[in-house]
Amino acid sequence: MTPPLLPFAPTTTPALFRDLQVEPEEARSILRPQKDERYGFGFALSPYRGCEHGCRYCYVRDYPQALPGDRSVPVKREAWGTWSVPKLNAPELLWSQRHRLHGQTVFLASATDPYQPLEREYRLTRACLEVLLMCPTTRVLVHTRSPLVLQDTELLRAFKDRVSVGFSIPTDDDTVRQVVEPKAPPIPSRWAAMERLAAAGVRVKLAVCPLMPVHDPEAFARRAKASGAASAWVGGLRLLKDDPFYDLLARHGWLHILDPDYADGVARVLEATFPRTRTPRDRVPAPAPAPPRVLQPSLFEAM
Ligand code: SF4
Repeated sequence: MTPPLLPFAPTTTPALFRDLQVEPEEARSILRPQKDERYGFGFALSPYRGCEHGCRYCYVRDYPQALPGDRSVPVKREAWGTWSVPKLNAPELLWSQRHRLHGQTVFLASATDPYQPLEREYRLTRACLEVLLMCPTTRVLVHTRSPLVLQDTELLRAFKDRVSVGFSIPTDDDTVRQVVEPKAPPIPSRWAAMERLAAAGVRVKLAVCPLMPVHDPEAFARRAKASGAASAWVGGLRLLKDDPFYDLLARHGWLHILDPDYADGVARVLEATFPRTRTPRDRVPAPAPAPPRVLQPSLFEAM
């Protein structure tokens, strides 16, 4: 077998896309092992560092990060969403590591959205999927907020039952989305993408992650079913220390989403449509009694 070719050669020169600082790099590694079986995958794979979606609750914004230009200067939490680092050698690195993937499940992506807008130009996610397609015993979980995934519909179809695509749809209200994920694609476009992918024969899932206000859980479940979702899970919010997102929730009157019982209630409604809907409590031990800002961690350690 020969390594896959990128559909085109991405630029290696830092460029300004929209309001985004793009700093391509040659990564040193590409597979991050996940030893905790509760997460349901053996490796996480992120073709990018950083994420243009810049969700205001994203806990990856607190990861220690530096840009390739000056690794001695950590990127500030407040800059999350304004920079992105395409890992130009991601497909080649993955190809060199394919012997580790026998019988494994790969989660794509753990600390970025694999279909953030840059993927339109760089196609690194696509190239990684092409490598994974050539690993016949490897399963793939794609997790995204973007209809851009539709550009890979045919490739995803080729995986048959080895792939599923989880759409993160944390709320049924796009005005909520505009506050918490202002740069991510609108909620209706995610439902539409889910529907098209399902119609194409790709297994799709609803990821209510992290749970934000859902005004009508019954209608939400019906919409997911009508859009072709095969299953659903509810993920908890993970606040950072001194997180301004807490104040944002308070300003909008949304602090109820921090109550684990709220997640359970939404999950119970979803369960009527999607049996065995998982909640944060299912796979992560309940935290010890803690101050109000400490929440259930997400089901996935990142993303
Ligand atoms: S939550 Fe996901 S999509 Fe949003 S900024 Fe973080 S990595 Fe990107």
